[in-house]
Amino acid sequence: MIMENLNPHDQRPMLALAHGDPSIFPCFRTCRNAEAAVVDALSSGQFNSYGTAVGLPPARKAVAEYLSHDLPYDLSANDVVLTLGCTQAIDIALTSLASPGANVLLPRPGYPYYEVFSAHIGLETRHFDLVPKNGWEVDLDSIEALADANTVAMVIVNPGNPCGNVFTYNHLQKVAEVAKKLGILVISDEVYGHLTFGSNPFVPMGVFGNIVPVITVGSLSKRWIVPGWRLGWLVTNDTHGILQKYGVMESIKRIASISADPASFIQVKLDLSQLDGIIDDIDFCIKLAKEEKMIILPGVTMGSKNWLRVTFALEPTALEDGLERLKAFCQRHATTNK
Ligand SMILES: *Cc1c(COP(=O)(O)O)cnc(C)c1O
Repeated sequence: MIMENLNPHDQRPMLALAHGDPSIFPCFRTCRNAEAAVVDALSSGQFNSYGTAVGLPPARKAVAEYLSHDLPYDLSANDVVLTLGCTQAIDIALTSLASPGANVLLPRPGYPYYEVFSAHIGLETRHFDLVPKNGWEVDLDSIEALADANTVAMVIVNPGNPCGNVFTYNHLQKVAEVAKKLGILVISDEVYGHLTFGSNPFVPMGVFGNIVPVITVGSLSKRWIVPGWRLGWLVTNDTHGILQKYGVMESIKRIASISADPASFIQVKLDLSQLDGIIDDIDFCIKLAKEEKMIILPGVTMGSKNWLRVTFALEPTALEDGLERLKAFCQRHATTNK
C-alpha cells in the first residue's frame, strides 16, 4: 500500500528506511574472503550432494566453536541445528513446543512472524509489553500475570526488532529468573546478536543458558561479514556521526531512555498533535512515500501503533538524504505552520 504511493514523476532516488538488510549497500559488502570461501566450497565438488537435515557436521562444529567464544561453557556440534535462515529455526522451535492447549508469550512490539507461524500451527499467543521508558525492557510483572500451566515458552528478541535496544546483562538475568520460576523455556532470537556494540559486549545465550533451558535462534541475514571473519552489525562511525548531527541519538534516548547505541533500528513515537492532517502512522508513511519518495515502516505492523520503525542500515549518504527529506516533510506538515 505504501509502495503504491511512491511518486513515479519524482526524479530523486527512492529511499527505503524500512528494510533490515544492509548487504545491498556497497559500504556493507561482505568481505572478499567470505565470498571466496563460498566459491571454493562450491567448486571443490565436495558439498554438492544432499546434506543432512540438521546441517553438515563441519559447519555445525564451526558454529559451535564460534558461539562458544562468548560462553562460559562449550557447545558441541550436537547443540547446533542449521536451518534456512532464522525463519525456519522459529518454525522448528515453535512446532516442537506446540501441543494441544499450549500457549507462548511474545513481546509487543515484536517481530510479527512469531504470530503468523503460531496461528498457522494453532499455538495460542499472549503478549507482554516492552516498556519504552525503561529502554524497552520486558515488563516482568506482566509475564507472571500472563503465564499459566499451559505456557511453554517466552520469546526474547535481543537486540530488539523493531526497537533496536540491547538488554543489559542484569535485565536478561531477571528475565531468565522469571522464566525459571514459571518453569518455561526461553527462545532467544539473536538475529543481530553475538557481536560487540561499541564497548558493550553482550552474551544473552550465556546468561539464559546458565539459568533456564534456552533455544537460541539466529541467522546471518541482517549482519554483514567483515574482514577477518568477524560478524559486524551496524553503528559505523559515519552512521553514528549522521545520527548525532540530526539529533537522532538524543531524541531516541529521550523517548525510550536507551542507554547503549541502538542496533540498526530505531523506534520513533509520532506526536500527531504536532502534525496537521496526519491521522496515524500508516497515513504518515503513505504521505511520506507520496511527497518524499521514501519508505518507513509504520509501527502498527510490529504492534506499536503511531510509532515508526526507521532503519539506519544504509549508505551514510542515503541516510543523510533520508533524514533531510523526513525533516522537510515534518516541517511542511507542522501544525505551527498553519
Ligand atoms: C529478520 C528476522 C528474522 C528472520 O530471519 P531470516 O534469517 O531472514 O529468516 C527472525 N527474527 C527477527 C527478530 C528478525 O528481525
